[in-house]
Amino acid sequence: MWQNGQNVNGTLGDDLKKPRSSNDSHHADETRPVGIRTAAVHAGTPANGLTGASAPDIVMSTTFVIDPSVAFSADEINDETPFVYTRWGNPTIRQLESKLATLESAEDCIAFGSGVAAISALFLTMLKAGDHMVMSDVTYAAASEFANQKLPALGISVTRVDTSDPEKIRAAIQPNTRLVYLETPVNPLLRLTDVEAAVSIAHEAGVLVSVDSTFATPIGLRPIELGADYVIQSLTKYICGHGDAIGGALLGRSEDLKRLRTMAIHTGGIISPFNAWLIMRGITTLPIRMAAHQETALAIAEHLEEHPKITRVMYPGLPSHPQHDLAKRQMENFSGMLTFQTKDNLRAAQLLSDGLEIIHYAVSLGHNRSLVCYLSTDDLLRSSFHLTAEQEQSYRAFAGEGVFRFSVGLEDAADLIADLDNVLALL
Ligand SMILES: *Cc1c(COP(=O)(O)O)cnc(C)c1O
Repeated sequence: MWQNGQNVNGTLGDDLKKPRSSNDSHHADETRPVGIRTAAVHAGTPANGLTGASAPDIVMSTTFVIDPSVAFSADEINDETPFVYTRWGNPTIRQLESKLATLESAEDCIAFGSGVAAISALFLTMLKAGDHMVMSDVTYAAASEFANQKLPALGISVTRVDTSDPEKIRAAIQPNTRLVYLETPVNPLLRLTDVEAAVSIAHEAGVLVSVDSTFATPIGLRPIELGADYVIQSLTKYICGHGDAIGGALLGRSEDLKRLRTMAIHTGGIISPFNAWLIMRGITTLPIRMAAHQETALAIAEHLEEHPKITRVMYPGLPSHPQHDLAKRQMENFSGMLTFQTKDNLRAAQLLSDGLEIIHYAVSLGHNRSLVCYLSTDDLLRSSFHLTAEQEQSYRAFAGEGVFRFSVGLEDAADLIADLDNVLALL
């Protein structure tokens, strides 16, 4: 028998439920029994009580032998329901959910087949015709496109605001607002939102708050500890960390997640147990990987800031970041994402794509391998973000005509710097 997660909605292992932060920070809590590195390795994955296997197993079975009394409707699943069918719940997926919930200080977690599956399940559960959402004017592109294109067709209205100014959230909330949707640091700008300030404004109006915390990971930011109701993670990025498994997660209070689990079962965007296992394996090194990502990203950001061919560098860990004070107050790790601009971005994009030897010119982020790609402001404003003139000004203040989004990997900083410098010399 599994000691943890033996039910679809099973309770998490109490012993490891609340990790202590490994840094001596403002989030530290005396009652927490273990540090976050210990939790990343141990939470959710005790030894197999039947076989004694120390490392987690993969349960690929789609169906489970049951008793005839077990109910068959998604609506009737409760804490006592055993595993029945993998779309409803699976031991390996449940172990991943347990581990993630522990790291995010959340009561519970639902894993999905991708980050976008988690986001769309949240929208479709929280919002119905006549409802309104306040959303960051810049978010992960697919979330923006879903909100711009699909939600209005369902009778759901969306107001997009620059959430780095919490007062803009207050001004946008209406009597029918059900959700404030945040992302910090936001992709691709690396602009931050003060989660505590946003939560206090939203909660005052009785509105729930979700935070896409993919760039920060629970090592950098734990929105639930700052009062947020939901956290979204694209597990595809840092949490997996190796660029070989797509997944997503939604975390929050057990009570609130019940409706979301029904939505996950009905829309069917579940994660494969194999991907869950790979991602769980990735998580065990998340805290030490994030420390390394941060150290290397800072070294590269400092180097690029002095580089004659580079016109601007944006990294929350640099004093030149416009919200560096908020970053220091809110984040325990500045992550490995930075952006830079050059004298001639389009030419630099071609040179980087042709000439880099270590870094891959590719989308995605959070992998062990460094990745860079150019994101043109005009392209993104046309396709994903439909901004007002004022919002566009705020966008351009961070991104100019476009940015190179650089996901700094786990290679040696000196090798990454040499790879970049070799190409930039041609610019
Ligand atoms: C990648 C990403 C997503 C979407 O995740 P997928 O796993 O690709 O569906 C959502 N939010 C952010 C911030 C991301 O970087």
